[in-house]
Amino acid sequence: MADATIIDGRALAGKVKDDLTRRVTALQRQGKNVRLDAVLVGGDQGARMYANNQAKACGAVGIEYVLHELPDTSSESDIIATVDMLNESKVVTAIMVHMPLPDGVDAYEIQARISSDKDVEGVNPANIGNIVFGKRSLVPCTALAVMEMIESTGIELQGARAVCVGASTIVGKPVAVLLMQAEATVTSTNAHTKNQELLTREADILVTAAGVPNLITAEFVKHGAVVIDVGINRVKGKDGKKRTVGDVDFEGVQGIAGFVSPVPGGVGPMTVAMMLRNTVQAAE
Ligand code: NAP
Repeated sequence: MADATIIDGRALAGKVKDDLTRRVTALQRQGKNVRLDAVLVGGDQGARMYANNQAKACGAVGIEYVLHELPDTSSESDIIATVDMLNESKVVTAIMVHMPLPDGVDAYEIQARISSDKDVEGVNPANIGNIVFGKRSLVPCTALAVMEMIESTGIELQGARAVCVGASTIVGKPVAVLLMQAEATVTSTNAHTKNQELLTREADILVTAAGVPNLITAEFVKHGAVVIDVGINRVKGKDGKKRTVGDVDFEGVQGIAGFVSPVPGGVGPMTVAMMLRNTVQAAE
């Protein structure tokens, strides 16, 4: 059997961004603002790197990006005050709060505070809940990215067997519900699932978001399946240098699957593109 087709997240993201550039220009011609305000609390390196990349990504499609930096001594009420100020602002059309937040700050309370119309990461409980009602408000970006990547393969979702490995609130559960809405037959697994490979081997669509390197080997995959790897793990290579891998043993699975998404260059760039698309949608 030939090697799987690679689902190129960067190429798919590029097409989305071309469309967004046109939509942003159209909004600006109508005198409408497209502006994303992000809140970064404390000096977490990963979050700062994400904020820098986000600023570049917004700039590339014409979205204005403003970063609000708060000290790591900020209390929950300090952060809520900033979110409230952004909720009320007429010029701010989109809001996101970078994770992690300082110890003692309840992320749920902060996310619940973001106006659901400006919540471009789709983390407000109202937006997450709307997925169950089939209302496509602002859907969590990674879940959207996964669905776009699955759809890009042309697979018929209705009646397909799908397995979602990992069931977090922000990735695994929303993906499972979106697949259910597309009338796939969905199984959700977690760290306690027994004989997981017996379930995954039945899957026409296999999405993994566990954060465990090499979890999904060729033995877990059905011939011809669509495999989407959400995992981002930092591991030491044979040369002792750190590199980023997903949950999938890419080399092994490539010989079995019909389609497979790589890490890096898969779900990551598409998640950024979906965040930009949500930002434009919020402004529209
Ligand atoms: P999370 O909140 O830690 O959830 C992980 C989920 O995986 C939990 O449901 C956990 O089950 C399950 N799990 C852990 N080990 C498992 C195993 N051996 N078999 C089956 N399920 C297992 O993580 P998350 O935020 O969803 O993120 C998951 C991964 O995706 C991470 O690597 C993260 O970095 C990555 N990620 C990537 C993007 C992107 O844009 N590409 C975005 C978000 C996240 P229990 O609850 O039973 O422990």
